[in-house]
Amino acid sequence: MRHTLFRAALLAAAAAALPAPSVSARPVEGTGTAWTIVEGLTTEIGPRPTGSAAEARARDWGKAKLEALGFRNVRIEPFRTLAWQRGPEHARLTAPYDQPLAITALGYSVPTPATGLKAPLAYFPTLAALEAAPAGSLKGKVAFIDHAMLAAQDGSGYGPYGDVRRKGPGIASQKGAAGVVIRSAGTDEHRNPHTGITIFPQGVTPIPSGAVSNPDADLIARIAGRGKPMSIDMTLLGKPYPDAPSGNVIADLPGRDPSLPMILLACHLDSWDLGTGAIDDGAGCAIITAAALAAQKDGQPLRTIRVLWSGNEEMGLTGGGGDAYLKAHGAEPHAVAMESDFGADHVWALKTTFAPQNAPLVKKIEAALWPMGIVPHPGRAGGGEDVGPIIAANRLAVVDLAQDGTRYFDIHHTPDDTLDKIDPAQLQQNVDAWGTVLKVIANEPGPIATVAPAPEGGD
Ligand code: ZN
Ligand code: ZN
Repeated sequence: MRHTLFRAALLAAAAAALPAPSVSARPVEGTGTAWTIVEGLTTEIGPRPTGSAAEARARDWGKAKLEALGFRNVRIEPFRTLAWQRGPEHARLTAPYDQPLAITALGYSVPTPATGLKAPLAYFPTLAALEAAPAGSLKGKVAFIDHAMLAAQDGSGYGPYGDVRRKGPGIASQKGAAGVVIRSAGTDEHRNPHTGITIFPQGVTPIPSGAVSNPDADLIARIAGRGKPMSIDMTLLGKPYPDAPSGNVIADLPGRDPSLPMILLACHLDSWDLGTGAIDDGAGCAIITAAALAAQKDGQPLRTIRVLWSGNEEMGLTGGGGDAYLKAHGAEPHAVAMESDFGADHVWALKTTFAPQNAPLVKKIEAALWPMGIVPHPGRAGGGEDVGPIIAANRLAVVDLAQDGTRYFDIHHTPDDTLDKIDPAQLQQNVDAWGTVLKVIANEPGPIATVAPAPEGGD
């Protein structure tokens, strides 16, 4: 008793001697408009899945923010869309070894029975191996699809390996599978599964579909290598959400000559639900908005700059924010479209789709970027999901500022997509690069034309 009292007295004395607790041991270091936007959005709203009350709050938040920053004609344009809603989810291997699995459902998965789907697990090392499986051979089974996505500066692995997620479940269903599990389309070694939508083609029965983390996929691969039959018990209760409410937020910085076609900048406001949507795509909205403001710092540009904070990019299977934007604004004159949806790491290259007669304009942009160490890339710009529909319909010129994507797919669509992953200095480099390009193109007086854009890989 005496000892305890002595300890308590010591602790009280120590506490009295300490300074008041600080707010955080990891102080937030960012400053500037872009940081303020992504910090605010991730702190005051957080995850913003399509159709959710949080996505609606994010639109109100965005409208107030854009008005406070001095944008004009700020408006919310609601639309209805097909979306998807997560439910409870868990899974374990039940044979030959009992092991819990870190799993998450893919968007447009249909639910398992509430008591779980218990089935043999068939291992496929690649999507091609699954495609080669005989028709009907997966009846009553869950297919597991492995792959080998590695990190790349340009993020190009997401094309082929993202197809495991986008197409794998539909192919497994066509072979008769009762469910499907994939190795996450991600490049990290954390026990975080990566979500994202899968696409069941017309006429293909949707089946319960999930992704396990890379370490869990490694485990399944090792067990498969032992040659003993595997079985799984998985519960994924997420389901499609028809007629969900979504919407775009649109704002203008009017140019000196309203008769000249405008420059459209886009990002997406919705996010996956696992993280807080910092790199995907709060950062994009922060970059385009701060850059638009930076472009008018030395005087009002000739052309109007419009920002589109798109709704429903992530689940935009039958109509996302880009489609709604085209429907509402396709008749207005646009010259150039740009999109930021690849995180917040630094810009290293420039891609465009300007027609040959705009070669002098391209030279001007290149010259403005050289001092920042940003180089011309021989590839063709593609834009992205939010500007894709209007680029295709109206044949707009596209400018891409290629970012370093080396660590993007470590974090993409996981619980790790949080503010601390954003390096304030690299975020600001994006704003500086975008602002530099905008100053040139928004002050271009002559006609702007395009060659065909590159096909877009999708988010
Ligand atoms: Zn995105
Ligand atoms: Zn995404």
